[in-house]
Amino acid sequence: MKQFIITEDFPMNELEFDKRFWNEQACYDYLFKNRWPDGFVCNQCGNSNYWLSNRKLFICTNCQFNHSLTAGTIFNGTRKKLTLWFKALWWFTTRKTGISALTLKSLLGLGSYDTAWTWLHKLRSCTIRDKREKLSGTVEVDEIYVGGQHSGKRGRGSENKLAVVVAAEKKGKKLGRIRLQVIENCSGEALMPFIQANIASGSSVVTDGWNGYNKLKEKGYTHQQIHQAKAEKKESVLPGVHMVASLIKRVFLGTYHGRLEKKHLQRYLDEYTFRFNRRNTKHVGKRFYRIVQQSVNTMPFNRKSIIFGNISPLLAN
Ligand SMILES: [Zn+2]
Repeated sequence: MKQFIITEDFPMNELEFDKRFWNEQACYDYLFKNRWPDGFVCNQCGNSNYWLSNRKLFICTNCQFNHSLTAGTIFNGTRKKLTLWFKALWWFTTRKTGISALTLKSLLGLGSYDTAWTWLHKLRSCTIRDKREKLSGTVEVDEIYVGGQHSGKRGRGSENKLAVVVAAEKKGKKLGRIRLQVIENCSGEALMPFIQANIASGSSVVTDGWNGYNKLKEKGYTHQQIHQAKAEKKESVLPGVHMVASLIKRVFLGTYHGRLEKKHLQRYLDEYTFRFNRRNTKHVGKRFYRIVQQSVNTMPFNRKSIIFGNISPLLAN
């Protein structure tokens, strides 16, 4: 029998979490382990020896370069305790529908709503990985509109609504993983890059008769195009994506009361995708662990760049 070695280290439940991450040092050690899983490595010279300064800088014994554990991470420049951040991370990842800024503010006793709001956006930015495995097998794709009362028609009638393309893996009658992306419009030029970035070539892609999907075969996919009869409801033609669509609409109406701004929508969708794709994770702590791993590899951005929709990270000093 194959030996199974557990290398993932995370708290299994809230009791374990509270017991473990009760002080700064414990959080600090955990971040260290996730940032340098094989031990400290100087990013300038590759040396693995360091000494720790009073200001908690890791100083390379070879080239003297100073490394801060939190520089270049979402915790960059924070004046708040890591124990607070960890608690926010825990709630964000383990609560079924996440946590609102207002709730986070009061639970942590943060001074301002803005701080809680910014923290949550930073955490959302950690919900996707660059090298995610593409969806494969049979995948349903369709576009939906978010933010309006009624679903709009393609290419027009979509004022105040945001177009989102949904891809959902089919595993028999069940759903596998999903991907969600805000798109400018529903043209082939907008849809095809999403499909190529998120669905493995050779997969079988199921869509309706919209001509935005005409180039699927050309791009190396098997295309199952379902032409719906006029009287037929879209839900019965593409049941997977429409189940996802109705779940999203419910969450967004419930949690955010339908108030969504275009510039923030993608991050909410990323958070939703993260939760959805890990809905069957056995231990809630594993989701926490994933976000910590991402948090030490995600460049920080400040509140201003979140508000103005520019999510390109600021360079860490
Ligand atoms: Zn060095």
